[in-house]
Amino acid sequence: YVKDNGKNNHHFFASFMNDKTERKMEIDKGLREALEKNQFELYYQPKMDLVTGDISGVEALIRWHHPEMGMISPVEFIPVAEEIGLIASIGEWALQTACTQCMKWQNSGFPSIRVAVNVSTLQFRQQNLVSTVRRILKDSQLNPKCLELEITESVMQNTESIHKLFELKAMGIYMSIDDFGTGYSSLSYLKRMPIDSLKIDKSFINDIHMDPTDTMIVTTIINLAKSLNLRVIAEGVETAEQLQFLKQHKCDEIQGFFISKPVPAREFEMVWTK
Ligand code: C2E
Ligand code: MG
Ligand code: MG
Ligand code: MG
Repeated sequence: YVKDNGKNNHHFFASFMNDKTERKMEIDKGLREALEKNQFELYYQPKMDLVTGDISGVEALIRWHHPEMGMISPVEFIPVAEEIGLIASIGEWALQTACTQCMKWQNSGFPSIRVAVNVSTLQFRQQNLVSTVRRILKDSQLNPKCLELEITESVMQNTESIHKLFELKAMGIYMSIDDFGTGYSSLSYLKRMPIDSLKIDKSFINDIHMDPTDTMIVTTIINLAKSLNLRVIAEGVETAEQLQFLKQHKCDEIQGFFISKPVPAREFEMVWTK
């Protein structure tokens, strides 16, 4: 029995590895033509102001409709795009599409809101990032105040990237730190960074009531933001209890399934107008 079991395990392992490699190869191959084949789409998820109840902004989240494999998560394909050198062009597409969409909304009479675009740390290292953003803003005619860039703490570990942060801030762009609390930000650094807001990572929000450590972490981040004069937003809010907790503790904004899932632009307009 033991011997057979070992054999089966070996087989299982080998075929599992094959599946994994095959999938990775498919993604690798498919990504190279996904842009020209128009397979990407941006979904939008609202951010809500906890004081006014208004939608203060929206985060653009990329989706890839693979013709055979179906929808593939950015968690899976963004790292591959970085690895094979496609992150710059995919990132540029996302920025362009988000800015154009935001301007379209403004032109058709929706309230003027801010659109947030995720920029990965590797993407941030691209030589021409700042000029690309500048060109996209010019082409779309979007006010830089209506563009938000979501970066992660690791961006601030690179001197050239910090320099770019200051350039983007000088253009009037809103800067936020995504997944805050999961990295290794030095507090003295944070104070000197051209940052407007902290986004508390959703892993701390899940058990905000039950887990005393999470309660402590979340309230600490909120207080930190207040004392640094930053806005603070919680991501991954799924329940009324979480919302209530965050409101009581003076978190400025929330985002999460409780308000809305990320949805296509058309669907977002309906969430908005109702
Ligand atoms: P993120 O920027 O931290 O985005 C938040 C993720 O949490 C999104 O996953 C969103 O759909 C999900 N989410 C929102 N509300 C809830 C909630 O209440 N509960 C739960 N369980 N999840 C919630 P998504 O769309 O799969 O994106 C994953 C990550 O992929 C993003 O994390 C971001 O880092 C990256 N990403 C997405 N779009 C882009 C893009 O255009 N460019 C780059 N470079 N990265 C992107
Ligand atoms: Mg984000
Ligand atoms: Mg996040
Ligand atoms: Mg995240």
